[in-house]
Amino acid sequence: LTVLGLESSCDDTAAAVVRQMPGAGAEILASVGHGQAELHGAYGGVVPEIAARAHAEKLDVCVIQALGDAGLDLGGIDAIAVTAGPGLIGGVISGVMCAKGLAAATGLPLIGVNHLAGHALTPRLTDGIAFPYLMLLVSGGHCQYLIADGTQDFTRLGGTIDDAPGEAFDKTARLLGLPQPGGPSVEAEARHGDPARFRFPRPLLDRPDCNLSFSGLKTALLRARDQLVAEQGGLTRADRADLCAGFQQAVVETLAAKTRRALTLYLQQDPPEPVLAVAGGVAANEAIRAGLESVCAEMGARFLAPPLSLCTDNAAMIAYAGLELFRDGVRHGMDLPARPRWPLDDSSPALMGGGR
Ligand code: ATP
Ligand code: FE
Repeated sequence: LTVLGLESSCDDTAAAVVRQMPGAGAEILASVGHGQAELHGAYGGVVPEIAARAHAEKLDVCVIQALGDAGLDLGGIDAIAVTAGPGLIGGVISGVMCAKGLAAATGLPLIGVNHLAGHALTPRLTDGIAFPYLMLLVSGGHCQYLIADGTQDFTRLGGTIDDAPGEAFDKTARLLGLPQPGGPSVEAEARHGDPARFRFPRPLLDRPDCNLSFSGLKTALLRARDQLVAEQGGLTRADRADLCAGFQQAVVETLAAKTRRALTLYLQQDPPEPVLAVAGGVAANEAIRAGLESVCAEMGARFLAPPLSLCTDNAAMIAYAGLELFRDGVRHGMDLPARPRWPLDDSSPALMGGGR
């Protein structure tokens, strides 16, 4: 079973080919992508209109390149999977239209995939783990805990009520004049900083649920920076490192504490092989990984972080999710809608409505 997957929901245009042989694990035959960082760089964020045009220009290029890398033509493909939401609607429409065109021209089945399901199923692609597992999706746009019980069966335990951690890292970098993306540059600064000098808030830790909040952290950092600037006329290298270390420590502790709660809820299901898997760009952060790893060790769960190229947006995860859905018998028609919003625990298939 060989599936071509397309992804265009944010600022990466990507195509991939994933194959599964009977009785074997899935294999990525090709995975290519065109990032749009240089197109949006001047604007300080992704511009939806620019993103949609760039996707429309690059989707066919990606498909041709992925098929070429896999050494296949469309005759070697069994199904076409595409991100049908959630995401920036212009980009999602570009991908869905491209997939419909390919499906119409070839007669191949079309499968609309929830982008978040793509992230959430990635540990099955990389490590073949069994349901149920606990998933922490932590990226520039998302932060949520999910229990994955099946390919279309996810329970959301909680998540951020405002900013996502990646967004907070990016804003912190901007406030301190560090390069984008903020995650890696803040992490590098934090390595030689003192995490105890600034004590930033750890919101919602007094609540028993799995919800998180990161917007207050950014405000506290802004205040600390402004106070230093007022007192000293600027920031020293050490100030910057200490601010980054204090910020990162607050994120690490918040995620560790809420992960402990989420694991407690998940372990109540008595999973035979307990696993916490992470996805999203923020999972690249070593301090965050170490924090999550030690909570897992303490609670008797395996910690699983797929390779970073599969943690951030990619089409291999969409092709793989399509493969799992195909095996479940999921097929979509030409009425498959592109959905800007599509909560993962809304298990209704994409064709059930436009969903806003
Ligand atoms: P989404 O895919 O959820 O819509 P996105 O495309 O912004 O959002 P990703 O590509 O998964 O998310 O990840 C990018 C985010 O990860 C950025 O916000 C970036 O700052 C953050 N990030 C990358 N590396 C690190 C790191 N080492 N530490 C913390 N954050 C990081
Ligand atoms: Fe994503």
